[in-house]
Amino acid sequence: MRRAWLVEVRRLVLTLVVGWLSGGLFEAAHLGTAIALLLLVGFHLLQLYRLARWSMRPQQYELPESAGVWGEIFEALYDTQRRAKKRKRKLASILGEFQASTAALPDGAIVVSPRGNIAWFNSAAQSLLGLRSPQDIGTRVNNLIRHPLFTSYVEGGEYDDDVQLPSPIDPQYTLSVRLIPYGNGQRLLIVRDVSEHKRLDRMRRDFVANASHELRTPLTVLSGYIDMMRPEAERPDNALSAWASPLGEMRRQLSRMESLIGDLLKLARLESDTPAPRGDPVRMPDIIADALAQVRQLSAGAHTITAEVDESLDLAGREAELQSVVVNLLTNAVRYTPEGGRITLEWGSAERAGSWHPILRVRDTGIGIDADAIPRLTERFYRVDVGRSRASGGTGLGLAIVKHALEHHEAQLEIESAPGEGSTFACHFPSYRLCRQEGDTRKVG
Ligand code: ADP
Repeated sequence: MRRAWLVEVRRLVLTLVVGWLSGGLFEAAHLGTAIALLLLVGFHLLQLYRLARWSMRPQQYELPESAGVWGEIFEALYDTQRRAKKRKRKLASILGEFQASTAALPDGAIVVSPRGNIAWFNSAAQSLLGLRSPQDIGTRVNNLIRHPLFTSYVEGGEYDDDVQLPSPIDPQYTLSVRLIPYGNGQRLLIVRDVSEHKRLDRMRRDFVANASHELRTPLTVLSGYIDMMRPEAERPDNALSAWASPLGEMRRQLSRMESLIGDLLKLARLESDTPAPRGDPVRMPDIIADALAQVRQLSAGAHTITAEVDESLDLAGREAELQSVVVNLLTNAVRYTPEGGRITLEWGSAERAGSWHPILRVRDTGIGIDADAIPRLTERFYRVDVGRSRASGGTGLGLAIVKHALEHHEAQLEIESAPGEGSTFACHFPSYRLCRQEGDTRKVG
């Protein structure tokens, strides 16, 4: 750069000297200098003109070549232009690869602008949603997918989970739709065909429900015979008396099978049911009183069972499912708390983020649960100690039923526990399910 400026200075000095001397030959040194300077300005104007012409139509004109500062400027511009071309080629090839890979995706991908318009989609989106290219580019995504579930999903702004809806082309197909926010208000809509997955899931559920149902009849017959034979076997002079103990064991195993089948059917029903209605208030204090009576019988005085119930608080939901939640949590508390332990139930409301929501809490001073096991408790047939669960009449399905019933009420289950220190199971229901009656909090138990 310094050399270029030296060239410019030399050019100026030379112009002045040549102008002065050649003007001097005709005794007009000033005029000669002025003409020489004018020529220099003309030279710079020419360079400016060439630069302006090139910058307006770079494809049509080559960058000019020159010495001095102009040469440096042209060279720097040429370098920048070359680098920009290279970057453009690279970006075009990345974009080409991206488009080719998204076009090959089996899932539909739609780019939605911050204003909710479709900016781009791949070919899977065309076949899954019936989008047309390019007519549907720029259309509002809500106008193309008109299902109410989708509208509330988009407007809800909670995109952690997907939403499942019938395909707008053929309602026999089910689509899973998920919005992924990115960049500056942009969103990527991923659409997946989950019909086969749903069909297999339904087949599995139907199979479990049908098998459980079919098993019920022979069990009832067996149970009837055993119940007929047991009183006979208990009489000492009867031919059946040697069978008293095996018959007692058969009765116990039959009861286990009956409760297992009962729980499997309950779970199958819960899985196929829709979310609980939000309008029907259920008298929670009554459900709790019934459940307490049941578990007191189970405990047979071995535990101190108390409850603090907000009598004015009801819950909008499904009675049978809420009953299952309360009974299962209390039954577990009794079964996993050694004799002399304390069990407390609380039903009330708690404030979170400025609004009140209903909360059901069951606390015990029982054996507690290892931290590693807590996330797995609601899996079907998961037990921390299989022997203990079976011995106390557990099916391994109680908390799976609780989880499903709570999901139907959009509620969350929080479990706090430590081995040897007891457990707390808290169900947080959403505030819109809270129904309050006139009354006050009173202690029960
Ligand atoms: P189960 O019929 O075996 O009790 P659940 O689904 O109700 O099945 O519970 C799963 C497992 O969670 C139980 O086997 C037990 O190990 C553990 N568990 C549930 N509730 C409690 C509790 N209150 N205290 C300690 N462990 C518990």
